Amino acid sequence: MARVTLNGVKKMYDDGTVAVHDVSLDVADGEFVVLVGPSGCGKSTTLRMIAGLESISAGELRIDDRVVNDVPPAKRDIAMVFQSYALYPHMSVRDNMGFALRLQKRPKKEIREKVQRAAEVLGLESLFDRTPRQLSGGQRQRVAIGRALVREPRVFLFDEPLSNLDAKLRAEMRRELAALHRRLGTTMIYVTHDQLEAMTLGDRIVVMNQGNVCQIGIPSDVYDSPVDTFVATFLGSPPMNLLPGSISRKGGETRFSPDAQPAANVTLDPGAAGGASRVILGVRPEHIGIGAVVPGGDTGVMSATVELVEPLGHDQLVHLRMGDVALIARTERDNGPKADSSVSLLVDPHHVHLFDETTRKAL
Ligand code: ADP
Repeated sequence: MARVTLNGVKKMYDDGTVAVHDVSLDVADGEFVVLVGPSGCGKSTTLRMIAGLESISAGELRIDDRVVNDVPPAKRDIAMVFQSYALYPHMSVRDNMGFALRLQKRPKKEIREKVQRAAEVLGLESLFDRTPRQLSGGQRQRVAIGRALVREPRVFLFDEPLSNLDAKLRAEMRRELAALHRRLGTTMIYVTHDQLEAMTLGDRIVVMNQGNVCQIGIPSDVYDSPVDTFVATFLGSPPMNLLPGSISRKGGETRFSPDAQPAANVTLDPGAAGGASRVILGVRPEHIGIGAVVPGGDTGVMSATVELVEPLGHDQLVHLRMGDVALIARTERDNGPKADSSVSLLVDPHHVHLFDETTRKAL
């Protein structure tokens, strides 16, 4: 097992593309860290630099105390599992799994034992004599993991290993990977664009955007306290609602009024907005309550028109419109708002997030 440290790591490709600007990250021994962000944010490049498959343009990469910037991949004691399983089609499961050890000319007995042990861990023994095309997608991915497992690496790297699988299998493999990590306790670094996968798998997640790290933390902390509007809307499905608006302070009260409905307001915790006068208010769909519109017009309460109600089984998504802003609320199913009706929106001030209008950073 090993600790992996990136210090100011940068990657500029030969054509001048800066894929990774400046990543600093300390992965503890035995930790499961997930790099997550939209396509093109630099997560695979970061992982490939750790693996040694891409050179590092600046900064330092350490495995334990050793700087490994210039150490070739085979000498880093790392195993990587890809999205494309890259299994040898003409080889059996057993031979695919033992391939790396055969290449190292390890004794036959040792290869047999290690392959056997990995197969037991992954439940592959009954498939030993099959070739990859006789396997399902999930089984193939398990063989690819098994092939990495037999090498007993100090660090596992995973590059979107589940994205070829259908939703049900992906959920199943996610649970298997989490269990595997618990059993082995090996350091794992995992790349995905899927925020749900990141939230469920990672001890910590690293949210990346445009070649930079936005936030590092325990998934629930990052979800509850996003540092900016990017992280706020990237994690969570449907994403956090954002409402630009103004802050007013009167008689010890701090109020927010959305630009889309300036006559309405929400009373906030007194110090919530600091000294800001223009903010973006963020509220997650599960923190918008829906009430009837009080007859008699302007009550100062935020209101919106219901555009669509999407039942999800246990609860429902209510798509709303307030002027030119679209919002989504997640409510209990029996709440009963109807399409085209007007409703009031109840926002709990303890569950709102406030961001600076210009920097989009959390206040
Ligand atoms: P992600 O894994 O987050 O989808 P990547 O790390 O694959 O992102 O890519 C980050 C950026 O680097 C993208 O803009 C991509 O187009 C660019 N990139 C990736 N590989 C190369 C390459 N070999 N040469 C030039 N640019 C590249």
